[in-house]
Amino acid sequence: MNKRRLLLCTDMDRTVIPNGEQPEHKKARQRFYDFCSLPEVSLVYVTGRHQNLVEEAIKHYRLPMPDYTITDVGTKIYKVDGDEWSEIEEWARRISQDWNGVSHQEIEIILNGFSDLQIQEHEKQNVHKLSYYVSLDINHKSLLDQISKCLESRGMNASLVWSIDELENIGLLDILPRHATKLHAIKFLKKQLKYALHEVVFAGDSGNDLPVMGSDVAAVLVANASKDVQLEAKKRAIESGNEKKLYISTGKNSDRNGNYSSGVLEGIEYFMPSFQELFKRL
Ligand SMILES: [Mg+2]
Repeated sequence: MNKRRLLLCTDMDRTVIPNGEQPEHKKARQRFYDFCSLPEVSLVYVTGRHQNLVEEAIKHYRLPMPDYTITDVGTKIYKVDGDEWSEIEEWARRISQDWNGVSHQEIEIILNGFSDLQIQEHEKQNVHKLSYYVSLDINHKSLLDQISKCLESRGMNASLVWSIDELENIGLLDILPRHATKLHAIKFLKKQLKYALHEVVFAGDSGNDLPVMGSDVAAVLVANASKDVQLEAKKRAIESGNEKKLYISTGKNSDRNGNYSSGVLEGIEYFMPSFQELFKRL
């Protein structure tokens, strides 16, 4: 039996996709590609994107093919085998219980009363996910608070995930079943695939990655993450007693810059010393 193995769960945008303002190291993506091709590594993309947009990014950015993909911010999990994607139905069944039988359409009608919410494009919605744009000019904390109370009053167990699209300068709000987070989806997959906790590493860069940053899953925050996210990730890791499970890439101890996939690899090297000799060959 192969003793050394890794379930690498990584966010896509601005984590392995270099679509932020900071520069990508010119060798970073090829090195990441080669690393993910190792037989010891199973790759899971964990993203807000839906299936088509994941496939588009893989092609466009020449990213390695994943073994599994958690899409739509944790609401869907697929097994990926070449071009074939099969949804794991058990996951959909589990998370649907959180909404107390209230449908997507009913929630949309309920939230019509909040004039600060602007519904996102049709392809960004799914059975277990409502996504909205919110202007950055308003007090989003008080808006989220009001929405939470409104959904709770209907017996719904929902989570509200707030993040910012820095390129478009707009707030993004996802309303999901409570257990449909990146963190719960990763834990579900870990259990299904029978990985031990020390064999799992997560990498991310922004708001919807924070629940994993403050958990017992080893998590890498890439160097290009904003200062706010870095501070919040540290705070959550300390508060939950998981300080040692968070690594913020710097690029300082290597000839790479710590941004995007270079930062992901730096974090894996930190958490998985048994992979060190493999890194030398990349
Ligand atoms: Mg991201």
